[in-house]
Amino acid sequence: MKLYNSLTRSVVPFEPWTPGEVSMYTCGPTVYNYAHIGNLRTYIHEDVLEKTLEFLGYTVHRVMNITDVGHLESDADEGEDKMLLSARKERKTVWEVAQYYTDAFFEDCGKLNIRKPEVLAKATDYIEDYIEFIRGLEEKGYTYFANGNVYFDISKFEDYTRLSKMDLDTLKIAHREDVDEDAHKKNPQDFVLWFTKSKFGKQAMKWDSPWGVGYPGWHIECSVIALKTLGERLDIHCGGVDHIPIHHTNEIAQTESYTGKKWTKYWWHSEFLIDHTGKMSKSSGEFLTVSLLESKGFDPLSYRYYVLNSHYRKQLAFSFESLEMAERAFEKLKGKTAPFTSIPTEGVELSKKGSDLLEAFKGHLADDLNTPNAMTVLYDVLKSEIKDEEKAVLLDKMDQVLSLGLLDAVEKSNTGVSEDEAAYIEEMITMRSTAKKEKNWAVADAIRYELKEKGVELIDTPEGTTWKK
Ligand code: AMP
Ligand code: ZN
Repeated sequence: MKLYNSLTRSVVPFEPWTPGEVSMYTCGPTVYNYAHIGNLRTYIHEDVLEKTLEFLGYTVHRVMNITDVGHLESDADEGEDKMLLSARKERKTVWEVAQYYTDAFFEDCGKLNIRKPEVLAKATDYIEDYIEFIRGLEEKGYTYFANGNVYFDISKFEDYTRLSKMDLDTLKIAHREDVDEDAHKKNPQDFVLWFTKSKFGKQAMKWDSPWGVGYPGWHIECSVIALKTLGERLDIHCGGVDHIPIHHTNEIAQTESYTGKKWTKYWWHSEFLIDHTGKMSKSSGEFLTVSLLESKGFDPLSYRYYVLNSHYRKQLAFSFESLEMAERAFEKLKGKTAPFTSIPTEGVELSKKGSDLLEAFKGHLADDLNTPNAMTVLYDVLKSEIKDEEKAVLLDKMDQVLSLGLLDAVEKSNTGVSEDEAAYIEEMITMRSTAKKEKNWAVADAIRYELKEKGVELIDTPEGTTWKK
């Protein structure tokens, strides 16, 4: 296995601290709003990373935090509390907001076949541990107290820019017009470990601490949860590329200052999904969610297919036109895999050609998770001369990583529909087939579109057209 390591900015052989075992930490969602499909792009690729490692024979221990503590609008400790803003708007308590969006996040993950990590850690369950960690840093002289907050002094940590490779003299904290810089910091990049005072809004979630009633900084939760759940040596730490300059940089500084040891071997970052404005945000512009895709008639798994067709280290520009194209390709693919759903695979041995195809698939994934190339092998399997039983085995194995539901698409279909509705759909399918035979494409497309509006997806297979709601 080879992986790109953001620390060295190169693709390197993957050698975990303990051979065969992988500890993997993934920064989880901030649950003050729905996840947008950009966030979910990162979670899809992380899911593929975990499943690829397993596919290659590693045992993976994966942890994800849930940021249910209120946090400020900017990564650099500035702005208003996002959770509180959301609670005020929705007339809920901050705890209700956090639970609601945590559930919504896992519902979206379920629809995208993203597996829940082995350990899910709520930030609010680790308050005592943050306090202990900050005291440890305090004892070692890495902190200072100013204006009611405990800060980490980055000048005490030698290697602060190891990950970001930024020049501190020119590095300016991203400055927004509505955000004032904190005059109490000794260095502009110093960050808060424990707040008792924030000049913005009132924090609703508060805990007692040696420094007064307050709440932890954001970066600390990932360091502490990772240490507590996965130990002092971490193999892979994941997140989106936006986390490199501040969040992950601060995590390294405080964790290694605390333990006195090198911490994470591989820093793995997924590139952004961008929209026509050049970025994707939860607070401005069109808010693209899984529910929005569904309301427009898309199957969430078409989005997964779309994402897997791009490499995780390349930016992906989202448009509904490109998603539409991906959905059509995905439908065609499911049409081709549908006949293999009912073929028994028990005891089937792979021929030389079958094994070669499997090796090619593994090889692409082991090459820094090249999912677009791995997907082409799926098509090679379908086109190849090997026996149908072998194809069924290979599709099943490959889908363990790709998780596109290739072999259960048809089984899952046609549920939750009344007899009348089913009869109507069948009638429309017959009309569409006639239109297609007469090369009346406009009518055929109109029928597909009309059914799609009703949430019915048509799947063209060699045996005819099936559908699912
Ligand atoms: P958040 O809930 O904002 O902390 O983000 C959750 C995850 O999504 C983090 O790993 C972010 O780095 C990642 N992320 C945020 N925006 C995007 C985007 N536009 N495309 C891909 N990943 C993103
Ligand atoms: Zn994190």
